[in-house]
Amino acid sequence: MPKRKADSVLEGVPKLPRDSSIAHHTQADYIEVNSFVTATPCDHCLDSGVPCMIDRSRRYSKCASCTRASRVCKREFYTGREWDLLRRAEDKLSSDIEKNEDELDLLEPELSALQSRLTELY
Ligand SMILES: [Zn+2]
Ligand SMILES: [Zn+2]
Repeated sequence: MPKRKADSVLEGVPKLPRDSSIAHHTQADYIEVNSFVTATPCDHCLDSGVPCMIDRSRRYSKCASCTRASRVCKREFYTGREWDLLRRAEDKLSSDIEKNEDELDLLEPELSALQSRLTELY
């Protein structure tokens, strides 16, 4: 019995090539979207003066530009403590923003009043 036509058509389709450059670009895009510009850029970004963007979720350890270029990303690694501080600062920031978005206008005059009072003290 002959094969159905659809089967032989499918057999003729070459397997999708695993284009590693595409994968790298997708990964770099992911990093760029989910990253922050690190204050301690990697060697390459430091040399070329581009912002060094590091994946916030730490899924990838390379920066975006090194990922895009499939290059070894050499950098001073963050210590766990620095990551902790960063995480906490970010968490606090985002929760503060969520909570206080509406209150911000109300808080601002209060804050500046407080600041001027502090200035008077010193
Ligand atoms: Zn970099
Ligand atoms: Zn890098």
